[in-house]
Amino acid sequence: MPQHCYLCEKEAHHHVKLKNGDVIDCCDEHYNRWICERLGLEYTRYVHPKTINVFGERFRVTMQVGPDGVMYYASRGRKGVEESYALQLPFSMSGKEAMKYLRGRVSLTTMFASDDKDELDDAGTIGIEYDDATEGEDPYFIFKGRKLSPDQLIELLSFYPGYNLAYQLEPRVPDPDSHWITYEGHVVPGEDDDDN
Ligand SMILES: [Zn+2]
Repeated sequence: MPQHCYLCEKEAHHHVKLKNGDVIDCCDEHYNRWICERLGLEYTRYVHPKTINVFGERFRVTMQVGPDGVMYYASRGRKGVEESYALQLPFSMSGKEAMKYLRGRVSLTTMFASDDKDELDDAGTIGIEYDDATEGEDPYFIFKGRKLSPDQLIELLSFYPGYNLAYQLEPRVPDPDSHWITYEGHVVPGEDDDDN
């Protein structure tokens, strides 16, 4: 049964274990509001447009506030095999300003994108996901909006002897159905417990 947010009717995907032992269940927005408040930040500063356009293509924008900055995601396409880009930016940057950098992040790889689904472009992104990691299955890979098996990935790479595949690790846009656990003690570790 889905759990509801402690402040609204939306489904809760974040579960925060407070220092006092209580757990609060939060929707995405109320999680971001909670963590901003705990970090002494103004949540409204990080509100961003729902979508951005890059080279005429529309991407959904989502964000997640973390202890070290704000992770912004741009994604498009079918759930599970989305094209996904991420960029972590400092708290000093507003959500509105951040879109310029997120657009830059997306354009860096999309500017090289060709329609050939069996060919690596000069720059691109290969996602790594599991259908069900708890079952001990192999991961699958996401290339240009489709699933590749480990064998298909190796076959794809084997056409490029003499090249390096340079990489940059970044998180994929979170699955809207996934659940996250946060410990208040990790968000504000140095603080005394006397403010409750
Ligand atoms: Zn909520």
